[in-house]
Amino acid sequence: MNSEKIEVLRIEGLKKSFGKLQAVGGVDLVVKKNEVRAIIGPNGAGKSTFFNLISGDLKPDAGKVFFNGNPITGMAAHRIANMGVARSFQITSIFPDLTVFENVMIPIVVQQKRTMNMFRAAKKIAEVNDATWEVLTKVGLKYLAGAKGNALSHGDKKRLEIAIILARKPELLLLDEPTAGMSPEETDSTVHLVKQLSADLGITIVFTEHDMKVVFSISDYISVLQQGVIIADGLPGDVRNNKRVIEAYIGEKKE
Ligand code: ADP
Ligand code: MG
Repeated sequence: MNSEKIEVLRIEGLKKSFGKLQAVGGVDLVVKKNEVRAIIGPNGAGKSTFFNLISGDLKPDAGKVFFNGNPITGMAAHRIANMGVARSFQITSIFPDLTVFENVMIPIVVQQKRTMNMFRAAKKIAEVNDATWEVLTKVGLKYLAGAKGNALSHGDKKRLEIAIILARKPELLLLDEPTAGMSPEETDSTVHLVKQLSADLGITIVFTEHDMKVVFSISDYISVLQQGVIIADGLPGDVRNNKRVIEAYIGEKKE
């Protein structure tokens, strides 16, 4: 079996308008297992909307979304999440008054509850603890297990958010600007983490990012979105040299 051939995500003709504004204007995309795929494009290009359409946070006007070959178009967000699609938002969402450990433990308990057997409760508690430590170790937050969520640095909050998502054992991870607002050091360690998650856990990752250094250092493939339409799609080297992309985006002056 060639795992590289498995299509984790297939998107056909996806569209979404807000009133007169077409935010996503007919997008096609195929993401294969284990791929790290960047969706780049200027502010307002439709990146977050595109993610919302995949995760079920918004319903498309037209088009189809398939996850592992199954149609998920227009399904409720929690159903899509239960199938193994996890997402992060541009704004961090953690429980600020709970500890790092508790933040990660909750989704693990929620997941285990589905298979809960009262006679095995003690064993389950041990399993939950082990699973929580395992996730914390993976994201490098073990040493902050007892700290309250709101006491963390911005970078560690983002890391915790990734840990919470990982606790649900997703197959596809949608990360909306995971390094937004991070210091260069925090950005580096997050990039390293994302790469490692893809390589070690076989998670397929689709992410948006404004930092081109990050994009070109971690992506297997890049899709460029402009005004809701994909104007280029391919290997980083090809996208970097694409004339339309240079004109539309990479050549754009930064303020
Ligand atoms: P990006 O994430 O690439 O910056 P967005 O997907 O957030 O872009 O936005 C795409 C366009 O859709 C923008 O013009 C934005 O103002 C508009 N938009 C996004 N969400 C909404 C909404 N809920 N209602 C109205 N307009 C929206
Ligand atoms: Mg956005």
